Amino acid sequence: MTNIAQAASQGSQGISEAGRWPAGGLVVAVDGPSGSGKSSAARGAATELGLRYLDTGAMYRAVTWWMLEHDVDLSDTDAVASAGLLLPVELSTDPAAAVTVVDGTDVTAAIRDRRVSNAVSAVAAIPRIRGHLISLQQDIIARAAATAGGIVAEGRDIGTVVAPGAAVKVFLTASEQARAERRSAELAADPGPDLTRREQSRRDRLDAPQTQRAADAVEIDATDLTLAQVIDLIVGLAQAKRVRP
Ligand code: C5P
Repeated sequence: MTNIAQAASQGSQGISEAGRWPAGGLVVAVDGPSGSGKSSAARGAATELGLRYLDTGAMYRAVTWWMLEHDVDLSDTDAVASAGLLLPVELSTDPAAAVTVVDGTDVTAAIRDRRVSNAVSAVAAIPRIRGHLISLQQDIIARAAATAGGIVAEGRDIGTVVAPGAAVKVFLTASEQARAERRSAELAADPGPDLTRREQSRRDRLDAPQTQRAADAVEIDATDLTLAQVIDLIVGLAQAKRVRP
């Protein structure tokens, strides 16, 4: 399971077609809690580096959206797991056009709904759902590493579970207040700072088991940094892995 990412960190014998990246492809893992800005930072870094982009949270959100849409009782973990394992989840890995499709429906916008945000942690905690999505994520990473020079993958457990051999690992944090403010700004219908903060704390608590900083990850505190500064830091870490001609 870790071969792809390990190959990426070790494969410096050749140069890929898609740029001067190691032959096995470069895998950049960006993990962190909600509201740390990791989606924008990971997407921006992927664009600058000319690599693919994977938003693993979108996959958990897509499965959750489908469960809510089909009135599946989220406390019935067997029902969620049985339905979830059969669900086709497709993602584009183009950082300029992130699209998420579940069971044939484009849910790119719908999965950002608060209703989904407030339900997703329960679905993501179900081991059979995690196992299924992690294996899909590993396939996407393997394909991008083999054919597109590499990928920036973001989530909670990329550097520890999904791609523990990733050559670059970042753990992005920010103060609770900065994260809540960022969340509020992202929401189409802002429920206000107090409720946003309460919902964020609840999600932090539920996501804690999955949100792991790898021992070899570089921690970036984005509280006082602009998005451009965070992207520059990630790009700098990745550029250091370029193969010199
Ligand atoms: O990153 P985002 O906030 O969109 O993630 C939505 C949810 O998906 C998280 O709150 C978490 O429950 C789950 N998730 C996860 N593992 C990941 C990415 C997301 O459990 N790698």
